[in-house]
Amino acid sequence: MEQWQGGCSCGDVQYQFEGEPMNSVFCYCKECQISSGSDKWFGLWVAPDKFKIIKGSPQSYSRQGDSGQPINYLFCGSCGTTLYADVTVAKFYSVAATTLADDRDLTPKMAIYTASAPSWALFPVGVPKFDILPPSVGG
Ligand SMILES: [Zn+2]
Ligand SMILES: [Zn+2]
Repeated sequence: MEQWQGGCSCGDVQYQFEGEPMNSVFCYCKECQISSGSDKWFGLWVAPDKFKIIKGSPQSYSRQGDSGQPINYLFCGSCGTTLYADVTVAKFYSVAATTLADDRDLTPKMAIYTASAPSWALFPVGVPKFDILPPSVGG
């Protein structure tokens, strides 16, 4: 089983997960812009039972998602890096691809919440765009 590892900027919190992510998504929602300091968040969707923290313990911040269910953001209390979001309604973690230890040959499969993107956003060529979510994904 393929192992993936990553961590925060200062190294206090590190994680690993196994197997290919079930999805890889550019999210342009406002919260992702704020969390990432960019026009989008590149999230790798991972089943919670494939994921574990192997060093440190992240702090969490919770907000209500569009579904009404909480989205919990897990971040390092020392350096502030957001490592992943626990999307409770859909039972997956959206792991920040930027926090992977090794560069991987990754391609986003879709771009979501593009209606919320800033005017200066850049969109990938040839990747399906959705104003909010594709019909197949519950918000
Ligand atoms: Zn840190
Ligand atoms: Zn988002």
